[in-house]
Amino acid sequence: MTTASWTLRCSACDTPAPLERASLCGSCGQPLFARYAPVARHTPLADRWDMWRYAPFMPLLAGESPVTLGEGLTPLIDAPALAQAVGVRKLWIKDEAQNPTGSFKARGMSAAVTRARAAGVPGLVVPTAGNAGAALAAYAAAAEMKVRVIAPRTTPRPILDTIDAMGAELIRIDGHIGDAGKMALAYAAESGYFAISTLREPYRVEGMKTMGFELAEQLGWRVPDVVVYPTGGGEGTVGIWKALQELAAGGWIAADRVQPQYVVAQAAGCAPIARAFDAGADKAEPWVDPVTHASGLRVPSPLGDRLVLRIMRETGGFAATATEDAIREWTRVLATATGIDAAPEDGCALSVLRDGVTAGRIQRDAEVVVFNTGSGASYRA
Ligand SMILES: *Cc1c(COP(=O)(O)O)cnc(C)c1O
Repeated sequence: MTTASWTLRCSACDTPAPLERASLCGSCGQPLFARYAPVARHTPLADRWDMWRYAPFMPLLAGESPVTLGEGLTPLIDAPALAQAVGVRKLWIKDEAQNPTGSFKARGMSAAVTRARAAGVPGLVVPTAGNAGAALAAYAAAAEMKVRVIAPRTTPRPILDTIDAMGAELIRIDGHIGDAGKMALAYAAESGYFAISTLREPYRVEGMKTMGFELAEQLGWRVPDVVVYPTGGGEGTVGIWKALQELAAGGWIAADRVQPQYVVAQAAGCAPIARAFDAGADKAEPWVDPVTHASGLRVPSPLGDRLVLRIMRETGGFAATATEDAIREWTRVLATATGIDAAPEDGCALSVLRDGVTAGRIQRDAEVVVFNTGSGASYRA
């Protein structure tokens, strides 16, 4: 028996939780976080070329092989023409479209499936707005595990086709991801399958965290001034923030510059976190009738609301929205100015960045990183 190098504790009230089959905090209902002893600077990273290179920071038992498809280690691409178009000094795109199944969701599923397989669960179930389902279908296939994916019928066709192609059981529903989430929990209760929902399952965010490690390492162990993230459930944003906290605890990055300013981009047709931020609230109310073609942002009741709101306030960041037309326009600008095949979510991020610069909320001499979370190819019918 190998002893785990981490514990699970509530992100809000610090109540401990068991390491396997964990869900939300039994005491207050908020997401759980894995906690580790600080990893000291210069601790050797793993000698491998996927996100598990950051193994000393990850929920991995000694000698255990993760379920991997080569996720992570995505490029940080200097985009001077785009920097000029939005009016900032320096702009980098972290191109997450280069992950297995074309989105950053691969990172979370690699970590979550690794832990679920170790726990011996009979199968996996996930509610998804699209990319999480495609990623889980791929990692379940890699782990030889059974999986059910529940997705809105309106999910872009190439994503549904990928889920199907990986051999997952695909259930198409008429509602949104919130409806799919309720069905996933009901199915988990009746079948014994384990539900891998955003931030309800605690290890997905551990995989997302590796975006933060890579970002800091690619910049020479420092952080940029601003990070812009197209936010739905909140896992990407929370993961990056958590990584930088852990790097600072071990002395990998300077203690006086730990976190960038976090700018959260949402679609005007589904913006629960932006609305809560503007209202000065510490949690988001559910968004009625969510509509946007940026399907990854169609999350009306994000579980990460409190964490994301706190992260923005603590870092001097903010949340803002883009209309469907602005999303289309800036998706086109992103792709044509860089050659990166941008998803609509990332057009949303760029539009919010541009508005933030124009309004003086983001400094023109800032060094900005925008996450290209998914691939445009996944959205072309
Ligand atoms: C899931 C997803 C998002 C939103 O990420 P969260 O971690 O849920 O906030 C953004 N863009 C794409 C392409 C996605 O698949």
